[in-house]
Amino acid sequence: MSGKKSYEIIDHEFDVVVVGAGGAGLRATLGMAEQGLKTACVTKVFPTRSHTVAAQGGIAASLGNMGEDNWKWHMYDTIKGSDWLGDNDAMEYLTRQAPKAVYELEHYGVPFSRNEQGKIYQRPFGGHMQNFGDGPPVQRTCAAADRTGHAILHTLYGQSLRHNAEFFIEYFALDLLMSDDGVCEGIIAWKLDDGTIHRFRAKTVVLATGGYGRTYFSCTSAHTCTGDGNGMVARAGLPLQDMEFVQFHPTGVYGAGVLITEGARGEGGYLTNSEGERFMERYAPNAKDLASRDVVSRCMTIEIKEGRGVGPKKDHIYLHLDHLDPKVLAERLPGITESAKVFAGVDLTREPIPVIPTAHYNMGGIPTNYHGEVLNPTKDNPEATVKGLMAVGEAGCASVHGANRLGSNSLIDLVVFGRAAAIQAGKTIDRNASIPEVNEKSSEKILSRLDRLRNADGSTTTASLRDKMQHTMQEDAAVFRTQETLKNGVDRMSAIWDQMSDIKVTDRSMIWNSDLVETLELENLMVNALTTVVSAHARTESRGAHARDDYPDRDDKNWRKHTLSTISDKGKVKLSYRDVITKPLTDEKDGGISLKKIAPKARVY
Ligand SMILES: Cc1cc2nc3c(=O)[nH]c(=O)nc-3n(C[C@H](O)[C@H](O)[C@H](O)COP(=O)(O)OP(=O)(O)OC[C@H]3O[C@@H](n4cnc5c(N)ncnc54)[C@H](O)[C@@H]3O)c2cc1C
Repeated sequence: MSGKKSYEIIDHEFDVVVVGAGGAGLRATLGMAEQGLKTACVTKVFPTRSHTVAAQGGIAASLGNMGEDNWKWHMYDTIKGSDWLGDNDAMEYLTRQAPKAVYELEHYGVPFSRNEQGKIYQRPFGGHMQNFGDGPPVQRTCAAADRTGHAILHTLYGQSLRHNAEFFIEYFALDLLMSDDGVCEGIIAWKLDDGTIHRFRAKTVVLATGGYGRTYFSCTSAHTCTGDGNGMVARAGLPLQDMEFVQFHPTGVYGAGVLITEGARGEGGYLTNSEGERFMERYAPNAKDLASRDVVSRCMTIEIKEGRGVGPKKDHIYLHLDHLDPKVLAERLPGITESAKVFAGVDLTREPIPVIPTAHYNMGGIPTNYHGEVLNPTKDNPEATVKGLMAVGEAGCASVHGANRLGSNSLIDLVVFGRAAAIQAGKTIDRNASIPEVNEKSSEKILSRLDRLRNADGSTTTASLRDKMQHTMQEDAAVFRTQETLKNGVDRMSAIWDQMSDIKVTDRSMIWNSDLVETLELENLMVNALTTVVSAHARTESRGAHARDDYPDRDDKNWRKHTLSTISDKGKVKLSYRDVITKPLTDEKDGGISLKKIAPKARVY
């Protein structure tokens, strides 16, 4: 038997269902519950195991605790970091709200490190500068040692429990319930430990499902970062935005992929090649090792390509911290001291760490406005929203990171927009309105997909197909891209997509069926991988993290626009484009940033 009838459904009714309990999901959940909205938070892993827990370096806000700083400098750096692809309204919102959001975290109980005056400690981070980019680097990144994400996530979970949010832990969200006229009416989730199916009907769904790092072979993100929310949105026929922009972090541990925070360079660490040269001084004379991530990753790759890599295969670079006072390492970087020992076998007080650029962050995702409402742009209305659907965190694309995110700007994005979504929901949700009726047609569709995969009886295992996808993405859509690699990537990824019809799931049970979970995740990863490579192939310029050997320059005339991609059941990707929002929220005469200051120019560090 297939289809819905073989599955019993347990119904739930809420004002709001948040999918995801990372920093973004928890901040949204907390904000919704605070306002008395009946809120559910559905998560496939225990909240404090979300990838946010791994964030090390810190969270950006222009508090000015360590020297002069202001939101306009932060906004300028974010715009420049985005390579002029971010939306200026959202970037103004982010940088102006950032200090408030950080103080709120402090009051919730986040144990930030302190400076000598007892204020929140802030460190330098790549691309964050004084004086509208003129430098020197500013100390803007607030840190709890090198375990900032851990501190924030645990605090937010505790705070969410204080309010009346209901948690549904180890429930795997399958898909969005969509009405015929395109309204989101809830989700269906599979409870992993007892095999039951749960239908959450709600006035608003917030997707906070995180990034899709696992489309690549070498990445810093958790195994759970499989872009499930993006997959759900694409299956609902809605567009994803700017998927070609994938950030490679300069310092993943060679071989293991585990991250060494940029905070390490913020505290004085530097990179060397096989000649012992501090090569970043040559490429970025001002910012040096603290140039933005796309720039440092590319320079490292050039050094390796030109034969100056280190190690027997000359295929990586050294990161030095051995010149720093061991006291600084113990106090400010205890986590990476441990990671270096465990994952590279290195005592970083004496030896350099072998590092390599590693897939780290997805700038693209579900398009939203700066209130977190999901966009489905039409010709007549580029700002059209999807009723009942919001997206925040790495899954969303507001877009504050444009073509390249600055370090420590994601954690602040999580809390600012998690909070913004709650504020907007508080204003727009009619508490007296009824919860959407049961939608049989949409439920049936979702459960037949589950059933199809559960009974999949082909000859290709999930693990082997995932491996093919990850290697293809790594080889054809990584730091340097050309027409040839990308064309190759499109062809190979399309063929891999087709092999999903031959997938084999061996476990047919509904209880702790990790085989089926991974297959559902693989389908989501496929959506992300294919839209990434097709969008990248089409963009014939270099901008931010999207660097093409054959089109080395940024082309604002033709390409200062967001890519929108939709994908059919058969894996046909359709692209369209949407203008970048160049107008900030506030006029200069009302205290906003000067338009002349933020006009596009060459991006040098
Ligand atoms: C190693 C590392 C270090 C980093 N360091 C920093 C840093 O110092 N500063 C900074 O600003 N940024 C940093 N980043 C980036 C930043 O941490 C992430 O972008 C951010 O934490 C993502 O948060 P999120 O809430 O969007 O998603 P996540 O924290 O990834 O959470 C996703 C949530 O969605 C849930 N979920 C997903 N799919 C489903 C489904 N199908 N059903 C139910 N639930 C689902 C998961 O259970 C989880 O709760 C770092 C990233 C990494 C990988």
